[in-house]
Amino acid sequence: MPDAGDIFDATLLSRSARVDAVGRCSIGGIDLEALAEEYGTPLFVYDEDDLRSRCREYVTAFPGGVHYASKAFLCRAMVRLVVEEGLDVDVATGGELHLVRSAGVPAERIVVHGNNKSDDELRVAVRVGVKHIVLDSFDELDRIERLERAEGLAPPALLVRVNPGVEAHTHEYLATGAEDSKFGFSMADGSALAAVERVVATGVARLGGLHCHIGSQIFRSDGFDAALERLGQLVARIESATGVLVDELDLGGGLGVRYTSTDDPPAVAAHAARVHESLAGALGAQGVRSRPRLTTEPGRSIAAPAALTLYRVGTIKPIEGVRTYVSVDGGISDNPRPALYGAQYEAFVPTRATAPRDQVVTIAGKHCEQGDLLVRDARLPSDLVVGDLVATPCTGAYGYAMASNYNRVPRPAVVFVREGVARLVIRRETDEDMARLDLG
Ligand SMILES: *Cc1c(COP(=O)(O)O)cnc(C)c1O
Repeated sequence: MPDAGDIFDATLLSRSARVDAVGRCSIGGIDLEALAEEYGTPLFVYDEDDLRSRCREYVTAFPGGVHYASKAFLCRAMVRLVVEEGLDVDVATGGELHLVRSAGVPAERIVVHGNNKSDDELRVAVRVGVKHIVLDSFDELDRIERLERAEGLAPPALLVRVNPGVEAHTHEYLATGAEDSKFGFSMADGSALAAVERVVATGVARLGGLHCHIGSQIFRSDGFDAALERLGQLVARIESATGVLVDELDLGGGLGVRYTSTDDPPAVAAHAARVHESLAGALGAQGVRSRPRLTTEPGRSIAAPAALTLYRVGTIKPIEGVRTYVSVDGGISDNPRPALYGAQYEAFVPTRATAPRDQVVTIAGKHCEQGDLLVRDARLPSDLVVGDLVATPCTGAYGYAMASNYNRVPRPAVVFVREGVARLVIRRETDEDMARLDLG
């Protein structure tokens, strides 16, 4: 129900965001309405200082190494930024590898993932000399061995992706570490140990370590603790079966972020302290000789909180006794997460961010789908009019990255802002861009 006392929670905004005395919101020293006028809407606005400070927190908290999961948000400016801050970069496809390399990232700072890597993807990864390939199946190991035999391409050290069979307490589509998963080698059925034994026995590639990724948007540490306990058991089995020591345990990504005021994820430093302690406990309990470094692969927790999306209100339609639809100029094409996962977002009006949000509306997109909703039951000021800006915070991950051209809606532009300067890093798509593959 409308609540005259409801004010937008500005702590959901990125670190350089400011709301002035009359409620106008700026990021990186630039007024959001001015940005919308210059670059159009929808617009992704990334706070560069916020991104950098999150990278630094991770690098400090995980001295073993941090890989940015580029699938969360990938463009050249982004990967250059994370590499400057000392992170390496994860890719999951040939397309991601191509873009990251085109940004000038050295191959030895790239880790290649994927549950179904093609011959071509593996060939390119091996040729350019990536840091690690994360082995995901026996079929992939066959392909790597064939490349070595037939083309003399010696692979990099492999991280064996292990499915530890733990529950991550997140959305079912985001949970990847339970027994029923398309990713990795099962520990429960012995495949994980068998994969390591085969890597060691054939001598085609060196064992770089073990990898697991239990899911995404995780708030509770117990899933990570359980995964590390299982990995510790596997390290012990590997030592006794092969005599090989494990150099690296890559814990994957998955730390959650605050999409709404009620979300309460642990801070990076607290999460890091806890998982390092769990690892020490897990290795101690097994009495192993391996002293693997702990690495991690954050995506969402670096990119999501650093950006918001600006939309322009085009239509306001009250339906008596039902709800009021506020339709904006984007939708499922720039943020499919509400439709895919039922994800919740907050909304506010950047020109009066401190105004009481005294009406409840549903913010809808412009696509031909009833499910094209961005925020169900959003709170906005009741003086909202057509032409106002509306912003959704925390859209920096899996928004632009999952954007589509559905209904031939061009993908938005992306700007990075910092200290009063805005930098267009991805231009808005045009109708002509969208038509260029059509050969008819
Ligand atoms: C998606 C993914 C990540 C990043 O997950 P976040 O939840 O965005 O931190 C890390 N590692 C792997 C293997 C992934 O698939």
